[in-house]
Amino acid sequence: MEETDVLVIGGGPAGYVTAIRAGQLGRSVTLVDRSDIGGTCLNHGCIPSKALIDAADDVHTIRNGGDRGIDADVDVDFDQLTSWKDGVVRRLTKGVEKLCRANGVTFREGTARLVDEHRAEIDDHGTGATDAIAFDHAVLATGSRPIELPGFSFDDDPVLNAKGALDLETVPDELAVVGGGYIGMELSTMFAKLGADVTVVELLESPLPRYSDDLTQPVQRQAEKLGLSFRFGQVATDWERTGDGKVRLTTEAADPDTGEDGAESLTADEVLVAVGREPVSDTAGLDALDVERDEDGFVETDEFGRTSVDHLFAVGDVAGEPMLAHEGSAAGAVAAEAIAGEAPDPVGTIPSVVFTDPEIGSVGLTESQARERGYEPTIGEFPFRASGRALAANTRTGSVKLVADAESGAILGGQIVGPEASELTGEIALAVEQGLTLSDVASTVHAHPTLAEAVMEAAHSGLDQPIHTFNR
Ligand code: NAD
Repeated sequence: MEETDVLVIGGGPAGYVTAIRAGQLGRSVTLVDRSDIGGTCLNHGCIPSKALIDAADDVHTIRNGGDRGIDADVDVDFDQLTSWKDGVVRRLTKGVEKLCRANGVTFREGTARLVDEHRAEIDDHGTGATDAIAFDHAVLATGSRPIELPGFSFDDDPVLNAKGALDLETVPDELAVVGGGYIGMELSTMFAKLGADVTVVELLESPLPRYSDDLTQPVQRQAEKLGLSFRFGQVATDWERTGDGKVRLTTEAADPDTGEDGAESLTADEVLVAVGREPVSDTAGLDALDVERDEDGFVETDEFGRTSVDHLFAVGDVAGEPMLAHEGSAAGAVAAEAIAGEAPDPVGTIPSVVFTDPEIGSVGLTESQARERGYEPTIGEFPFRASGRALAANTRTGSVKLVADAESGAILGGQIVGPEASELTGEIALAVEQGLTLSDVASTVHAHPTLAEAVMEAAHSGLDQPIHTFNR
């Protein structure tokens, strides 16, 4: 029987990083995935969506270049755009395959199922054979799948999940989006910029409910400028085909106690359903080992990824929120080190970013979370309208906010809405993780003219020494 020190089930950013790190630490590693290496993130999520979002941003910028004397008709060859996007994905997945090989990881395409404490079966998709494999440690990195709403099966043609939306061959004239969270808002904005008429149906009263209003309002305002319509406080209950090949979607008030039944309909060519994701914890034979899961199916782990079964680890989306690729990768490295008998630090501060227009980035504590934890926070803020670099890039929306402990000056968190927020969040993550203070950031010279100066200026503001803004 084939033997391996570490069997990693699932080849997304959590699984492949676990495998690479375990290989680096001298373990023999077999990585199994029932599909392409790279998981949802590389194949159907983060990467293809950012490829299209970036292209849509370019189209939008050129179409709206009038102020700057740029006057051009933009014609998008969507076929060409999607095959370029597929090329980006291919290049990255091939790269991951190479990295695995270089670190001694054996990749097997197939479905792995645990059969007892130290053995699994792999259904080899190529040969159709089933092989047994013995392992010392196994790591479950099987990820998550999109939640299906009752009546909205992803098997039905016009009902799409993110993967289906990213694989569309044309830009729909009319797109209905159910769920105004991460996926709903990122993809709606992208399709609107490429010319679709988009309506977002959201259960709650604002988009991106994981973020505070001061961060989401600029995103909602810009989305409305792009022509997006919102139906807040509504749920999608049904859909039917109309004679002309379109879809009629029925929406109702989410809270019937409001007295309004609010039943409405809207037409669309496609319906994207993005109402969250659920763990894939039912495909790898976890019952054979009696692994503890919570009521939503997420595998319970300690801070090193160890499950209720000592030699079985779980990392990434299957191990619970936050379901973010970078959290999975970080958790994978920690688990590999724990398996190899090292004493890793648990995963630290996890930033989160949303690729909307403008982007959102958040890391560490917000002002109210800091208060709840007993800090007396001091706030430093810098608006992009005061940033030379932002104005030169034709944008002035949003701000950088730093939350610090008034007593020690230690930076506890930061929230950004504005240009390149996803990139700028990295500096605040470093500050939070390394315990830097407002003075540390304020006294670090940032190159001019850059957007990153806004982080330094926010630190100046937190110290009550603002240079390019007036008193807060
Ligand atoms: P989400 O949790 O971000 O948003 C789901 C939204 O659907 C919420 O706003 C919720 O109120 C709404 N909703 C729930 N039920 C509804 C209903 N019946 N009708 C209308 N609205 C309803 O989930 P998502 O957008 O599907 O994304 C899934 C996961 O993917 C996220 O949790 C995130 O971890 C990950 N993701 C991350 C990024 C990023 O990091 N930039 C991007 C995309 C996805």
